[in-house]
Amino acid sequence: MSESLSRSVAGKVVLVTGAGSGMGRATAEVFAAEGALVALTDLAGSAIEDIAADLRAKGHQARAWVLDVSDHVAIRAVVPEVAAAFGGLDVLVNNAGISSFCPIDDEEHYDLIWDRAVTVLLTAHQRLIRAALPFLRQSSSPRIVNIASTEALGATSRDSPYCAAKAGVTGLTRALAVELGKEGITVNAICPGPIVTGMTEKVSEADKEVFAHRRTALRRYGQPEEVAHMTLSLCLPAASYITGVTIPVDGGLMARNA
Ligand code: NAP
Repeated sequence: MSESLSRSVAGKVVLVTGAGSGMGRATAEVFAAEGALVALTDLAGSAIEDIAADLRAKGHQARAWVLDVSDHVAIRAVVPEVAAAFGGLDVLVNNAGISSFCPIDDEEHYDLIWDRAVTVLLTAHQRLIRAALPFLRQSSSPRIVNIASTEALGATSRDSPYCAAKAGVTGLTRALAVELGKEGITVNAICPGPIVTGMTEKVSEADKEVFAHRRTALRRYGQPEEVAHMTLSLCLPAASYITGVTIPVDGGLMARNA
């Protein structure tokens, strides 16, 4: 089979941000299980060292790098380190994220939360992409996946910093898909709905149940692996004609009216 039709990421080098928890962790694990070389990055004190060690113990190829995605200098240092350690870079998964709820009339906190949301959820994506581009340009199947949210497509009250940043991610995705398409680099976004991760762990089981029954078609929260498998699909060499799209992985939340 020619590489362009391959359904394998074996041997591909994948960098995942926010890989110490939730969907980032699941993404790292799914890619590693498929034979990719995985660079797990996250904040200092995260679980990435342990996760990478577990993956290596299972015979997979994985290494951990501390990377705060709000640190422009660190991004410029870590991305080339990953490429040097693994001999290139084929896939960037911009996943790291934070909740950013704040009412619009909260004069004391709004600007701070807005700035943090835009820095971590949106600016970091373009900075990672710019740092990764020289290496992605050397790849035979370069892929970028940005993790947005259904909050980029609809909105929850008091979530405007997050919604604005995530909508920015979908705009960035389209714009860079168009700009980089002539080089064969695909850029896509995934919009997870309610997923069981660190970000939603403070929501009680009872509240999760009520929300999922009222709002999703599948009547349940999703698991991080269910998002990770869509990320993997978009990164296959065979996914060479999909770019600029925003795919909800939301159990039918966006489809459901009643
Ligand atoms: P999670 O379990 O909290 O994982 C997010 C990871 O990103 C954590 O390890 C977190 O570290 C890390 N992180 C936070 N700030 C960072 C920074 N400045 N630099 C590097 N890493 C940082 O949450 P998740 O749900 O898997 O989130 C993954 C992505 O999905 C996020 O972009 C989120 O916005 C998006 N999303 C989540 C849901 C959902 O329902 N869970 C729905 C839609 C979209 P700490 O734990 O130390 O903060």
